[in-house]
Amino acid sequence: MGVSQFARSISESPTMALNEQARLLREQGESVVHLGIGEPQNRAPQGAIDTAAESLATGLVKYTPSSGMPSFKKAVIHYTEENYGRTVTPQNVVVTTGAKQAIFNALFAILDPGDEVVLLAPYWVSYPEMVKMCRAVPVVVTPRPGCLVPTFEEVQQAVTPRTRAVIVNSPNNPSGMVYGRDLIGELVRFCEDRGIHAIMDDIYHKLVFDGITAPSCYDFAKKDTDASSVIVINGVAKTWGMTGFRVGWAIAGRDVATAMSTIQSQTTSCTSNLGQLAAQGAIFGPKDGVEALRSSMEHNRDVIVDGLAQVPGVRVTRPQGTFYCLPDFSGCLRPGIARDSHELSMFLLSKARVVTVPGRDFGLEGYIRLSYAGSTKEVEEGLKRIRWALDPSAPKEIAIGAKTVTRDWL
Ligand code: PMP
Repeated sequence: MGVSQFARSISESPTMALNEQARLLREQGESVVHLGIGEPQNRAPQGAIDTAAESLATGLVKYTPSSGMPSFKKAVIHYTEENYGRTVTPQNVVVTTGAKQAIFNALFAILDPGDEVVLLAPYWVSYPEMVKMCRAVPVVVTPRPGCLVPTFEEVQQAVTPRTRAVIVNSPNNPSGMVYGRDLIGELVRFCEDRGIHAIMDDIYHKLVFDGITAPSCYDFAKKDTDASSVIVINGVAKTWGMTGFRVGWAIAGRDVATAMSTIQSQTTSCTSNLGQLAAQGAIFGPKDGVEALRSSMEHNRDVIVDGLAQVPGVRVTRPQGTFYCLPDFSGCLRPGIARDSHELSMFLLSKARVVTVPGRDFGLEGYIRLSYAGSTKEVEEGLKRIRWALDPSAPKEIAIGAKTVTRDWL
């Protein structure tokens, strides 16, 4: 009876855990501002709803092929051509239950026990745990103090004969940074030369600001997708805000794609056909919803960066994409408040009822991730409360929901 030692060694997703904590507090009537979750508040695009509803009305909701419905694979191929200028075949596409499963399947398909996977800090919270679940070893590259992106040389130094993959996430969760074209090019070429997989988590590649475009790995990868070691991960969760539909995909060389599909055939069988049809509706539907979401995130980015600049001790690097930022709060750490990012997140939740995620969970201590995926009003309220909690020159009293609270620690 009981849980295996191995299962006990895997941590719960901290962001999922925070969501649950926020939900419970709200259930108790507390006024919680959620700057923790990466989930836009928009409605799914009408095209997605219509396509899924049409299929639902037939009452025929059935299994699909493990690697995805042929019609949805066509949509993914169209998306890849439109956004990356790359033509791939249906054998290169694996449709998964969210981008999360695509990353896990890819790792499971390429790793043997003891293999190493290089992660660039700050990294998405799930990567190290997924690597461990494949009985492999995460190797973290930490950038120099004050930097949010490691250099190519720093990554290169972490590579050993056991390295099987490097995971690259740009635009980056949690920092919002878009890796430069030079870095993407160097990483892709290096991985291909060494026969190491470059897993490009491109889930935020359309959510970029200030008129920039996220550099594409395919500008540097081998032209033949079957010979290339690049694996591109994507999905509908962020670009269209369709988190609950649980649809993602990977583009990989045929061997890896086939292995990923085989693994999936023994775990989830396939992605829900309703989800795939909804995603198909989104990809082929009008693009104005994507632009509306992107520009509202850009506006929120401006609001949060301007607001944080007014909190003494906080240093924020302006995000170039996503809906996150990773300010350095180390100037706010002091006795009576918090000693590290975890304690600071807890402090902000207990005193100001603001949910944030400690930088420690992303591999960078002293930082805190704030999401601005919610409404502008919510972002502004969160900023007001953070300032009240951490800035001695802010008014001592604040209204949190129906209560008036007085600061007695600064
Ligand atoms: N990669 C990154 C970097 C993410 O932030 C997320 C979602 N938070 C995912 C993958 C997973 O996306 P999905 O919801 O499609 O599984």
